[in-house]
Amino acid sequence: MCCECNDRIDEDDACWVNGNSYCTDCVNYCENCHEHFTDDCYTVYTVQNNRGYNIQVCERCAQEDYYYCEGCHEYYHPDNTHYTDNGAYCDDCYDDRFVRCDNCCDDVDKDDAEEIDGEYYCESCADDMRAELEDEDDEEEAA
Ligand SMILES: [Zn+2]
Ligand SMILES: [Zn+2]
Ligand SMILES: [Zn+2]
Ligand SMILES: [Zn+2]
Repeated sequence: MCCECNDRIDEDDACWVNGNSYCTDCVNYCENCHEHFTDDCYTVYTVQNNRGYNIQVCERCAQEDYYYCEGCHEYYHPDNTHYTDNGAYCDDCYDDRFVRCDNCCDDVDKDDAEEIDGEYYCESCADDMRAELEDEDDEEEAA
C-alpha cells in the first residue's frame, strides 16, 4: 500500500522512503544518487548532466555535485561549467560573457577584454602587449 495515494502496490514495486512504502508515481527518483525521495524530503531539481541532457535529481545532489550558473540560473555538471572570479557559469553563458586572455589565460569579462591582433587580452596583459608592440615598432624604426 502506498502511504501517499493508498494505491495497492506489489512488494517488488514499492519504493521505501524513510521507512514508508510508496508507489513509483508518488516518489521522485534521483538520477544522480539513484535514490527515491519524496517532495517532503527534497525538492526535485532539473540539472544538466555531463552529456548535456536534463535529468531530475534531489536537492542534495544538485547542490553538492552540480554547479549553479550565475548567468541562466540553472544547474550544470562541473564538466560543463567554468569557474571565474565572479562565480560559476555554464558553457553557453561563459561564451556569452567571457573570453580567455590569450596571454595569462584568465577569464575576462567581454566588457573589459581588449582585442589586439584578433586575440583577446585582460587589461593588464593588453597593456603589456601594447608596450611590446611599441618596442618592436621602435626597434624597426631604429634599424
Ligand atoms: Zn502512490
Ligand atoms: Zn540524489
Ligand atoms: Zn548558464
Ligand atoms: Zn591576461
